[in-house]
Amino acid sequence: MSIADTVSCLDGYDPNALRVDKALQAIRACLTPISETEDLPIRDALGRVLAHDIVPAINVPAHDNSAMDGYAVRFSDLQGETALDEVGAAFAGRVFDGKVGPGQCVRIMTGAVMPTGTDTVVIQEVTRKESGRIVIPAGQKAKQNVRYAGEDLKAGVPVLRAGKRIRAADLGLIASLGIGSVKVKRKLRVAFFATGDELASIGAPLKEGEVYDSNRYTLFGMLSDLGVDLIDLGVVRDDPAQLEKAFKGASEKSDVVITTGGVSVGEADFTRELMAKLGEVLFWKIAMRPGRPMAFGRIGNAFLFGLPGNPVAVMVTFHQFVRDALLYVSGRTDDYAVPLLKARAAEPLRKVPGRTEYQRGILFRDGAEWKVKTTGQQGSGVLRSMSEANCFIVLEHERGKVDAGEPVSVQLLDALA
Ligand code: AMP
Ligand code: MG
Repeated sequence: MSIADTVSCLDGYDPNALRVDKALQAIRACLTPISETEDLPIRDALGRVLAHDIVPAINVPAHDNSAMDGYAVRFSDLQGETALDEVGAAFAGRVFDGKVGPGQCVRIMTGAVMPTGTDTVVIQEVTRKESGRIVIPAGQKAKQNVRYAGEDLKAGVPVLRAGKRIRAADLGLIASLGIGSVKVKRKLRVAFFATGDELASIGAPLKEGEVYDSNRYTLFGMLSDLGVDLIDLGVVRDDPAQLEKAFKGASEKSDVVITTGGVSVGEADFTRELMAKLGEVLFWKIAMRPGRPMAFGRIGNAFLFGLPGNPVAVMVTFHQFVRDALLYVSGRTDDYAVPLLKARAAEPLRKVPGRTEYQRGILFRDGAEWKVKTTGQQGSGVLRSMSEANCFIVLEHERGKVDAGEPVSVQLLDALA
């Protein structure tokens, strides 16, 4: 079945200017999360997508224990200031195995199991020793300074859900359950190449009319941040035969193929045509700036993103479309949407209604307030604008020009991995 048939959300859309939200919705509707998994020792699972729920077999902590250094007491013994007999000590990992009776207390360290009979811990600093006895001041609260069994993790209650990306805290949590290995989704394989007759590779002298290929390097960086397996297929010339070979090879080896360049309407823009010939192109014109020509489709089992050639457009379309798609196909089910924050425009911003714009911005603090300004020149070939930016200023589809002082939405670039 063609992907176009599976995507009813595109019915009645304007093929010359698909809205960003529609495009995102349509891409999502075509994709299927991968199902293959692998077992990994937990350290190797850092950053990977968990493939099953983690359900504790034990309570953490396993026993009621002390949260402080002090004395474990029976709260019912305390009446105003009370002197108690110290009958032993409990250390972390060394249990006091006697019973604590009325009028008695046990010296206790942080993490030590609460001795049988005690229910409350009095911190050392407020106590004093008098004629060999421990004097507890008035005003203690029942059960204070005690950590209860299962207060962190409860046996039988799921703590991590399948589809979550495993972060440092999760590794620690899994380790706290004594679990040494987990099942994760296999990594996505993403093949990519740059297209263009004008592209020179690093190491070669720059001939007249050539530019060094930078897109494969930004792609490398952005894909690395997402933790996928990369297949870098280099630069392919604007030649239908070579492009066809590249597309076929790429789609056989990978889950997703990403290309840059050649999706516009120029004489040598063969990328989109070939995608359509070898597979299917769902759409290729989006109402956005930068990034208007961006083709999405499929060849065989691989999904295709034909990104524009302009270096800024590559990064914008990657962050707005490819990132979401790759995380979805990776099996993520936690919420990985990039938060839209509000900041006040520090300067007027040019914008026309009818397309979503992603201006490169610098979010900065002005006294107590966060403001945002652009990085200056916003041409889609000015890669410096991405390097200097710490955020995108997201100007919504319907919005027109923005006056200084108006609130605008921003996406932090650091939130995009
Ligand atoms: P295209 O979409 O192929 O027409 O390319 C649009 C613009 O982006 C042209 O100015 C290209 O020279 C430039 N461009 C395309 N690919 C790359 C690349 N890999 N690295 C740097 N610039 C590129
Ligand atoms: Mg080109």
